[in-house]
Amino acid sequence: MKVACAWCKCHISGDPDDPVVSHGICKPCVKLHFPELADEMESDDELPRYAVNLADLMRMPPLCATFLIGSVRGEVSNIDKRKVDATIVELACDAERAEAIVAVIRVRYNRNELRCYKRGRRGGWKRI
Ligand SMILES: [Zn+2]
Repeated sequence: MKVACAWCKCHISGDPDDPVVSHGICKPCVKLHFPELADEMESDDELPRYAVNLADLMRMPPLCATFLIGSVRGEVSNIDKRKVDATIVELACDAERAEAIVAVIRVRYNRNELRCYKRGRRGGWKRI
């Protein structure tokens, strides 16, 4: 998805969930014209937004798992109490890096083999 910044007309592209894209204003302009909103966006950015399924990860060769997410291993949580294999590991890094990790995973594993998740704006996780 691509939109033009309402202030400087530069092109911003990315996820429609991203506050930068949904507000239609680029980050530098938000900082300049809406400092309060910028603070809110900063705190949004700190939340890990991607995660992988722990059970699926354990089925990977250990070296692959370590190489892929070893340095960005974040919080472990259960996203569905009714299911034993709904435990996820958050990717504690920026979205760009997390997307790159998911892209590498998808070269070898499909959506059912290694489940990956993205956090929505309201905090729920959805399969990607
Ligand atoms: Zn702008």
